[in-house]
Amino acid sequence: MTETIRLFDKDPYGVLFTAEVLDVRTLEEKGAAQIILDRTLFFPEEGGQTPDRGVLAGLDVTDVQIHDGVITHTVRLMAEESGSTPLPKAGDTVSGQIDWEHRYSNMQNHTGEHILSGLMHTLYGYENVGFHLSDNTVTLDPSGRLDDEQLLDLERRANEVVWKNVPVTASWPSDEELANMEYRSKKEIEGAVRIVIIEGVDVCACCAPHVKRTGEIGLIKILSVERTKNGMRLFILCGARALKLMQERQLQAERISRLTSLPQENIADGVEKLLSEIAELKNALREGEQRYVDMRLAQLRCAGSDNSGDSSKDPAPLKSFWVFEENLSPLLARYMMNELCREKCRFAGVFTGNDRDGWQYLIGSRVDDARIPNAAMKENLSARGGGKPEMVQGSVKATREQIEGLLS
Ligand SMILES: [Zn+2]
Repeated sequence: MTETIRLFDKDPYGVLFTAEVLDVRTLEEKGAAQIILDRTLFFPEEGGQTPDRGVLAGLDVTDVQIHDGVITHTVRLMAEESGSTPLPKAGDTVSGQIDWEHRYSNMQNHTGEHILSGLMHTLYGYENVGFHLSDNTVTLDPSGRLDDEQLLDLERRANEVVWKNVPVTASWPSDEELANMEYRSKKEIEGAVRIVIIEGVDVCACCAPHVKRTGEIGLIKILSVERTKNGMRLFILCGARALKLMQERQLQAERISRLTSLPQENIADGVEKLLSEIAELKNALREGEQRYVDMRLAQLRCAGSDNSGDSSKDPAPLKSFWVFEENLSPLLARYMMNELCREKCRFAGVFTGNDRDGWQYLIGSRVDDARIPNAAMKENLSARGGGKPEMVQGSVKATREQIEGLLS
């Protein structure tokens, strides 16, 4: 089959076109068909860029691929009942319309990539060894690394090229002209080479549509950088997509500013100060909790001192501590239990929680088997837990009154 005429090469701003259908293949299982035309404005997936979208012969174009110069359009077939558009046949003349917003965004981002790559080539001698332009991300992979300051400088220089509004042109030089030309190229190209020139900035072999003048890009933004094995990957956005992202980020910054009552201009310093205040408060809270627990322990020891009774001749059986606290960190609950175990007692149990949500518990013993009260709670209150004679831990969904009633 003869190569498809690439209307977008000479007319990157074209939206509507008519063409003759050369071949149609139905892909029954996918509810789709493939159409080959003599000419097209649909740019195929090529050179790291996603294909154009749009409508062909009244059908949605879902994919465009190129193989040996022949461009194949995949269209979605409509359901019979929705007043279906008939599939064209070979020899028909059909009209097509590309999704201009999508295409123009690709043109802005693609031309922005040329500017960044061209500048890095001139300033640092780097090659762009990978380019990816999808509907989600735009990345380029320079063959070397830049530090933060160099990246800011690169971004500023790239936007200066936008402000200068220099022309972007495409041409097909002869072999002789090419031999004397310095240009960037990602791979060995067979056949006629299309050279895209951004005046004073970049000369590159490229097959995709670009904007006519750099001013149309509007904005070139480097978003983030990842180090790669031999260089780095830049995540960028240009044009309408860059503006949209900046608007979203601005709203985030405004919201943070409102929530924190900090001025937007130095919000990072303000948030840093807030975080250190939170850290100090957490510290103070921890110290307060510790003081509270030590005070409670002193109270409990006092109350427990009459534990052994007043007669040494006939000592009363050892009492147990059953302590209930609404808010206690697991660390302090354990500390409390360990401290109580040092006292003369049979069991030291620390319960944290409340009657509504239930209680977490730790029970320790140095003279008996902590599994005994645990077994009683499991049997009578459906508690869950286990451990060793020295210590058990678990949880129980019951009221304090029920627990105390069972264990006291
Ligand atoms: Zn290009």
